Parts: sequence; C-alpha cells; structure tokens
Amino acid sequence: VHPAPTLVHAFRDSVRRAPDTTALAYFDGRLSYRETEALSDSVAGHLAAQGLGRGDRVAIMLQNSPQFVLALLGAWKAGAVVVPLNPMYKSAEVGHVLADAEVSALICADRAWEAYLRETAAAAPSVRIVLTACELDLQSTNDDRVLTFERLPRPTDADDLVEAARAGLNSPSGRELGPTDTALISYTSGTSGTPKGAMNSHGNIMVNAERQRTGHPIAEGSSYFALAPLFHITGMVCQLAACLTNAGTLVLAYRFHPQVVLDAFAEHRPAYTVGPSTAFMALAATPGVTREHFASFEVISSGGAPLPPALVEKFRAGFGPYIRNGYGLTECTAPCASVPPEKEAPVDPVSGTLSVGVPGPDTVVRIVDDKGQDVPFGEQGEIAVRGPQVVSGYWRLPEATAEAFPDGELRTGDIGFMDSEGWLYVVDRKKDMINASGFKVWPREVEDVLYTHPAVREAAVVGVPDAYRGESVKAYVSLRPDAEATPDDLIAYCKERLAAYKYPREVTVLPELPKTTSGKILRRELRSTQ
Ligand code: ATP
Repeated sequence: VHPAPTLVHAFRDSVRRAPDTTALAYFDGRLSYRETEALSDSVAGHLAAQGLGRGDRVAIMLQNSPQFVLALLGAWKAGAVVVPLNPMYKSAEVGHVLADAEVSALICADRAWEAYLRETAAAAPSVRIVLTACELDLQSTNDDRVLTFERLPRPTDADDLVEAARAGLNSPSGRELGPTDTALISYTSGTSGTPKGAMNSHGNIMVNAERQRTGHPIAEGSSYFALAPLFHITGMVCQLAACLTNAGTLVLAYRFHPQVVLDAFAEHRPAYTVGPSTAFMALAATPGVTREHFASFEVISSGGAPLPPALVEKFRAGFGPYIRNGYGLTECTAPCASVPPEKEAPVDPVSGTLSVGVPGPDTVVRIVDDKGQDVPFGEQGEIAVRGPQVVSGYWRLPEATAEAFPDGELRTGDIGFMDSEGWLYVVDRKKDMINASGFKVWPREVEDVLYTHPAVREAAVVGVPDAYRGESVKAYVSLRPDAEATPDDLIAYCKERLAAYKYPREVTVLPELPKTTSGKILRRELRSTQ
C-alpha cells in the first residue's frame, strides 16, 4: 500500500470509512472521527483567521489529551509546522525553543499559561497567537478527571473559518502539503545534551506509521493505548499516527500514572501499546496488577530506551505478553529497526544483550568506524542509518547536521553490531562508555545483569573518576516494593557474573532513578551527582 502523503490525508480517509467510530477516548469523554475532524477544522480555522500562514511554527505543549490531537491536526490543516513541547519543560527551556524555532503560535494548557507561560511567551517576540486548552491535572485533583468536550471550541462558531483552514491544505495559490514538507521540528530528548530540533517531514511520519500498521497488523477500529507521551516521536508516530491511519480508537490518559493506566486497560481493552521499558517496569511493580490487565493486547512494543532481557522474561512469565523491542531515534522519526511479527528477538550469547530487531524495509543499517568505513562483520562500531524515515537535518544547525548526517546517512551516536542473520544489537551510547583501567565497559551490559536480580526494579550504571583506574564502575538501583538487597549483595551478585573489570565497585540504592519525562533513565544526571 502506498502511504497517504500526510497524516491529515490518512486521517480524512479514516473519517470517510468510519465517521462514527470513536477516534479519541479520554476517561469518560469520547470524540468520533467525524467530531475530531470538525473540531480540528475549527482549530485550523482559528489559526488561519489569526493570520497563521503556511510553514509558520505552532508549538503544542500539552499532555496526552484530546486537545493535543485536535491541535496537531488543526495546525497541520492550517499548513503549519508543529513543534511539540514537553509540558514538563521549565520556563527557560520553553523560552529557548520558542525563540530557536521562531514560534508564531503556542497551544498550551490554561493552567500552565496562567502559572508561567504568559511571561515566557511575552519574552518571545515571534509568538503572536495563543490558544489555551482546558486540560485536567490528575495530580492535583482526582475526581475532576472527566473532560467535558463542551469546553472545546465548536465548529458552528467557525464555519467561515473552516474554509480558511481548508485553504491551508488545498490552497488555490499554492500546492497541497505533501510528503517532503516539514511536519515537525522535534527537539530530541536531551538525554545526552542540549536538545536539537530534528525536522521530520510528513513523508517520514507516514512511512513509519504505515510500517507500524502493516508490520504489526491490528484489526481496523481496535484501541491503541497511548502509553508513550504524544510530544515524543514514538508516541506521535507509533501510537497517534498508526491509530488514526487505522481508524482506531486512541485511548489517552493525560500522563503516566501506573494505576490510571491499568484502569484504562481494564476499561478500553486495548490491542496495542508502546512505551519505554521503564513504564513496563512500573506497571509490573504496581500493587494489584494481574494477567487480566494485559489480556486484550495483541502487540506490546518497547522503544526509545534499552530493554533488559530479564524484564521481557519476567513480564511474559507474570503477565503473558511478549514485549517486542524496537530501536528508534527522533532523527529516524521513531523506529528504524524492529522485531518482525511471528519472531522473537534473540539474545547475544556473549554480552547477554537483547536484539532490537532487524532494519525496516528500504532501510540500510551499517556498522561503521570513526571514518565511516564498515567495520569487519560481527564487530562493534557506530550504528549508521539511511532510509525513508531519516530526517534531512536539524533546524538551523548546519554544522551539527553535517556532522550527524554525512551524505544524508544518520550517525546515531550509538554503538552496536549485527549478527550473521541480520539482527541488530545496540550496545550503548558511544558517549556513555566507561574506561576502567583501559578496558571498555558498556553500562548496558552491567545493567542487564542487575536486572536479573529479583530485588532490582531499575538500574543505571555510570563511570566515576577513580585515581587508580581512571574511571570505575558505579551502579545506582531502585528496588522492587517489599524487596531487600544491600549494596554488598548486589556487588557480589555482579562479581559472580561479570569479568573483574566490569562489576560495579560501588552501588547506591535510591527510591527512584531520575528520568526524562519520556521515561528514559538519566545517566547524565547521576554522573553529575558525583
Ligand atoms: P539526546 O539526543 O537529546 O541526547 P535522546 O538520544 O535520548 O536525546 P531520542 O531520539 O529520544 O533522544 O532517543 C534515541 C536514543 O534512545 C537512541 O540513540 C538510543 O541510544 C536509545 N534507544 C532507543 N531505542 C533503543 C533500544 N531499543 N535499545 C537501546 N537503546 C535505545
């Protein structure tokens, strides 16, 4: 099947096929495909009436809520480029992105607007249009979770504006938005440094949404649970885009809260979800969780962060589903490798690493040295990716673009290798290598061993300065509820299972490990506590 040129086109096909199917479910609220079309038209009409033009940037700073989806479709219908913003960003981080991307319109939660965004936006001269949405804050009020859609702008107020919005997609003066137009400027997670704005085109998104749909075939109209945040590329493409192209129901639950997620699983019986491995660790450790919570799933995927093989096995034994690994980056518009249907990812017998899958169709993955030459087969090197999901570069960063995309091939900054059957393995991030007495230690390998310990819930390994060895291996862990293990127990456990230069010399137990809001454990933050 040839993918539609943009998600808006694919969404409109779903509206035609299934106008009365629920597109968005949010606690007790529901919006059909027809209503979602009309409401997003009215968002587009509002933006167009305020003078927003083709290619202008619209920042969306919302949690997983219907308003996010309406804002996204509305902005695209108006011809804009969307800049998803993490709602946990503080004023300085938002200010940086608003200025860097020269954002014209900001769509955010009314509470955040009142609390601090008003001042932040005032300092960003490019911001001319602000649309606030009433989002509900699960943290502060538990009973007030029900969204009444009456609060959203109704298309009846904006009939003439709808025409203006349509002009964005099908402008008499210009051509229709197509696959080569920029859809998103996605700022990377900032796990390893300052976020950079990757420019994902509509074609990049559709290629991966279509692969998701055909690679893991799920019956049309099924429910997709949005476990990953929609502002992150994995959530946007593998959940939102895959669901809306498949006329499915996207189940939204604001932000990750294990008990709320399990309740939504019981209520909506989703067939598909994808999230970072830390979300599955948290769900597995939630009191009262049973196999029944996962009984409706046809596919569960993990992406965007390392997946410890011990978690896959514990999860399967405890709850039934097999968690499918996938490897992706913002620069690849989410996945570039995944585990094919009907197969399970092998574990490398030497390092114990779980494969991330095989490269997608039309995607070429090479393992290269510092000069970009292929390393001998089976050896470790940097993972380089070329394919239709790879972005053309970073927004207004020509030097970083030239460095990361020589000849259009993405240098991922990840070290990996490939086995004789074409399975790809991600060893670790190049920058996170620990050099202990001249020996290379990859933190992942040590973390994977820690995860096999029954008491360990989360693990992160970093290098710390050591006068004798240069660097030595230090582990941070959090423990499962009611489990006990001392640092000495964990050191001894690793010592039995790892070469002498690899086992951690020090272990610190924390109640929880620091994470990005997309759920990745932040080794950078742990290193800086040294
Ligand atoms: P920044 O680039 O700002 O430091 P980031 O690299 O975390 O942030 P993302 O694009 O969200 O930004 O994440 C991509 C990275 O996540 C990959 O480069 C890789 O290191 C890691 N990753 C993704 N999927 C997997 C996986 N299945 N196994 C191991 N690591 C993974």
